[in-house]
Amino acid sequence: MVSFALNGVGVSAGIAIGRAQLISHATLEVAHYTIPMSKVEGEIARFSNAVKEVQSELEALHHAMTGADVPGEFGAFLDVHWMILNDPTLSEAPKKIIVEQRCNAEWALTMQLQVLVDQFEQIEDPYLRERKSDIVQVGERVLKRLMGKPGALPAPVAEEQTILVAHDLSPADVIQFKQHRYGAFLTDVGGVTSHTAIVARSLNVPAVVATHNARQLIRDSEMLIVDGESGVVIVNPDRAVLAEYRLKQSELDLERQKLKRLRLKPAETIDGHHVELHANIELPEDLEQTLENGATGIGLFRSEFLFLNREGLPTEDEQFEAYRTVAEGMSGHPVTIRTFDLGADKNVEGLDGLARVAPNPALGLRAVRFCLAEPRLFLTQLRAILRASHYGRVRILVPMLASSGEIDQSLQMIEMAKESLREQGVPFDSQIEVGGMIEIPAAVIAMDAFVAKLDFLSIGTNDLIQYTLAVDRSDESVAHLYDPLHPAVIRLLAMAITMANKAGRSIAVCGEMAGEVRLTRLLLGLGLVNFSMHPAHLLEVKQRVLTSEVAVAKAIVDRIRRADNPDKIAALVDKLNAA
Ligand code: PEP
Ligand code: MG
Repeated sequence: MVSFALNGVGVSAGIAIGRAQLISHATLEVAHYTIPMSKVEGEIARFSNAVKEVQSELEALHHAMTGADVPGEFGAFLDVHWMILNDPTLSEAPKKIIVEQRCNAEWALTMQLQVLVDQFEQIEDPYLRERKSDIVQVGERVLKRLMGKPGALPAPVAEEQTILVAHDLSPADVIQFKQHRYGAFLTDVGGVTSHTAIVARSLNVPAVVATHNARQLIRDSEMLIVDGESGVVIVNPDRAVLAEYRLKQSELDLERQKLKRLRLKPAETIDGHHVELHANIELPEDLEQTLENGATGIGLFRSEFLFLNREGLPTEDEQFEAYRTVAEGMSGHPVTIRTFDLGADKNVEGLDGLARVAPNPALGLRAVRFCLAEPRLFLTQLRAILRASHYGRVRILVPMLASSGEIDQSLQMIEMAKESLREQGVPFDSQIEVGGMIEIPAAVIAMDAFVAKLDFLSIGTNDLIQYTLAVDRSDESVAHLYDPLHPAVIRLLAMAITMANKAGRSIAVCGEMAGEVRLTRLLLGLGLVNFSMHPAHLLEVKQRVLTSEVAVAKAIVDRIRRADNPDKIAALVDKLNAA
């Protein structure tokens, strides 16, 4: 068996050793419908286009490999796929099925794939029988082009040791990890702060994205080592490499065990600055991990995850139950519920406003914009949050605010929700705090309105970086341009924290930067004392806080704020961490 390594972007640290389980799109539920005679030609054209697109995809892969440091076998795999794709049994036969059975292209293709798979299963020669998976992979590529989305994940074959390998995973897919525990996952595409990567981190599962062609080069059941820190994936490792990584894995486990001792220790710097370390959660089930890691509050409850992987929308009562569970579970510690951040990469079927494909979803009807455009949905959520506020210290956080008009409208909606509850005599916290997320450069530049109108602020650095640098956070082709240490990002952070501190408004960072231990001292030096992150990172960040001195950090951070050369900034960040 050939041993080889793949490089991607490590988005969730840790080492996993296990067997590959390829996500098979052919097992997806494909829509089955018949079409009228008049649509047959169009359906055939749709199929032919999908085949052509896959041809270009394979060509591009071939091109990318030429000259790259990859063994010759990979080129051979691609050649086989090219031949399969262009074989009439795959590229022509489905057209005949469309004509004869008047069925949609996806259905015709899966019918034909089944015929081919059945034929291959009869073959005695094991090598040739193996080619069945190549046919399925090529068929999946075409299907994916036709359908444009991945489907439900299969359950892992062996718990903990199964490494999921997929072309792509949507946030809705990854959230299913909460039911099926995988050892790690790899995807061909994806960026560091895509929601997919975020969910992986929150589950504490090692993950590597942007491997480009892992899904094609790795076969089912092959042994893999995934290093979620460095982004390296080793396929079919030899014994020595396996032993080396097993050792690393146990060292990491030991470190984790040691950190547990810090769970109840208050987070205070050497020079006596108290720091709040809160957790980001997606679902009430995350409470357990939050408490295990000693969070002193929930800084970000991404409530939109209540919408994913379900039929129909959650009712007010269902939402209320979810929020109340978290409010009660945190026993008086703050619980910051972010109102729905739907849109962009978190789409929900059944919501008319999101049904159309926006030309540029990250700049479209997303988050508060969507909520204000769908007031009934917004009011339902606000009522549910307010009702839960009777059972704990709940706060409302509104995402993606850009202007003072949006703040006013959101506050009016909250007043309306309060009024309707008052009329019905339903109890809620009338002093509930309302905060806004700082995620758009405009919000920092014109932050006076935010400071004047809101009770607290929280910087969503994932989006702030995306919108400042015009780099789509979920597009791996520009992942190298996504830079939390870009001088513009650092200066915006400095401006926002300084302005809020001066005005006496509490300000937090709840984007990924808050959980990156390498950046803890940078944020402390910028004057930040409220951090919110995935529970998995809390103790590591606490350890860094406990060994930091804000006064020392500030002196170096002042130099970082003035620096404009990325190398110099990186060197100063290293210096901060060595101090
Ligand atoms: C952010 O943008 O940094 C953030 C915390 O929100 P999300 O990642 O859910 O967009
Ligand atoms: Mg955001």
